[in-house]
Amino acid sequence: MRRFHNAPPVPSSSSTALVIGGGVIGRACALALQRGGWRTTLVDPEFAVDAAGMPPSWGNAGHIATEQVEPLASPAMLRSAPRRWHGFGGALDFRQPWRHAGWIASYLRACSPSRFEAGRSALRGLLAESLPAWRRLAQALDAPELLKEQGHWVCWESEPGARRGRAVWRGADIGTASCTDLPDDQLTALQTRLAVPLAGGIAFENTAQIADLPTLALRLAAAFERAGGRPHRARVQTLMRDGRRVHAVTEAGERLDADLILVCAGVRSRALMAALGLRAPLIAERGYHLQWAAHDWPALPPVVFEDRSMIVTRFAGGLRAASFVEYAGPDTPADPRKWARLQQHAAELGLPVQGAPRPWFGARPTLPDYLPALGRSACFDNLAYAFGHQHLGLTLAAVSAELIAELCAGRAANLAPFDLDRFA
Ligand SMILES: Cc1cc2nc3c(=O)[nH]c(=O)nc-3n(C[C@H](O)[C@H](O)[C@H](O)COP(=O)(O)OP(=O)(O)OC[C@H]3O[C@@H](n4cnc5c(N)ncnc54)[C@H](O)[C@@H]3O)c2cc1C
Repeated sequence: MRRFHNAPPVPSSSSTALVIGGGVIGRACALALQRGGWRTTLVDPEFAVDAAGMPPSWGNAGHIATEQVEPLASPAMLRSAPRRWHGFGGALDFRQPWRHAGWIASYLRACSPSRFEAGRSALRGLLAESLPAWRRLAQALDAPELLKEQGHWVCWESEPGARRGRAVWRGADIGTASCTDLPDDQLTALQTRLAVPLAGGIAFENTAQIADLPTLALRLAAAFERAGGRPHRARVQTLMRDGRRVHAVTEAGERLDADLILVCAGVRSRALMAALGLRAPLIAERGYHLQWAAHDWPALPPVVFEDRSMIVTRFAGGLRAASFVEYAGPDTPADPRKWARLQQHAAELGLPVQGAPRPWFGARPTLPDYLPALGRSACFDNLAYAFGHQHLGLTLAAVSAELIAELCAGRAANLAPFDLDRFA
């Protein structure tokens, strides 16, 4: 497709924006645009936030992961893949890999040392701003209590695992986070809740947790509407072009026009962009969780049981255990063995939970180089995008929204490393 270098759309008092997708990225962006002067409509087929089919924005582990500076497209990840394989007891699985050969080839290229270094430097900058941006957003939502700044813990059950894990984290780039050995009293507080002996742990600082994801979703929606934004319940079926402009068409056949159209539809963004001839090679990188409404887990920060690749987070609505990196299509049915494995981990650890847990699975939207796509289209004057946030969508929602609002207001925002044209 021929490319143009267009002037940025700058909002006037009557400029309209359409944000497609009401996950955490879409809601945060819609609020930032509305507050930035755009008359914004947020379109999503389903605004429910606490159900089996909810998007990963509300099914995730709640961790503001400022420490995850190193992109998962890395030589180290490639080397460790065999021992992380689901068939050998690990969390990594590939469903129908032959259907994703293009993505795999692109991922392998992104694992080269030079691409990894470039990705690390780009993520480092974004993550450094993620927690400050969350503080601003939590204040703007009038809900500072939603952001719990008590770090997170990583622990191990075996001495060799603890030695290896500590060495890996000490050698890793963890950006603005820091970590130290978990003090004895905290290790004991954790140990007394578990049926297995722990060999050690580390405590991270300058990471955080969102205390309650459904409340976050509701607060974002309420703030958006209070600022004058309009929610619209519909599924965008496709995007269509009129010369250098784009409009959306819903499943019901309704045409939606706007001066700015921002695509934030998670893994479904791939098909929307493809309709315009734009390449967004997203894969559904699915995770699973179990959540128990009744439990006696204390008010600890999120705890990663690294030998089990599982994170346990206490939310206002219950105790959640999450895991798995399952590459698949967005519509591939769930694999119930993964919930059984989570249940087994919970039983072996002796997590103090009662009753039957609620199972959930959902797809992280992941591009081959594990960097998000944030920017404006060079082909269409009114098209912008914010998707592909992989494991970091919650972490990066607030900073992504600030940057998108800056960009769309015509102000400088250094988003070059996240330009989708890297896959053109
Ligand atoms: C198990 C698990 C644990 C995770 N833990 C963490 C964590 O601790 N910290 C962290 O930072 N990240 C975490 N993540 C990743 C994070 O959840 C995602 O990166 C994030 O949800 C992406 O948000 P999103 O808004 O881009 O996409 P989504 O959450 O997928 O939302 C997309 C929205 O777009 C809507 N939509 C889709 N198609 C259309 C259409 N055609 N028309 C209109 N609307 C549409 C959907 O209904 C949905 O509301 C985790 C993910 C999983 C699966």
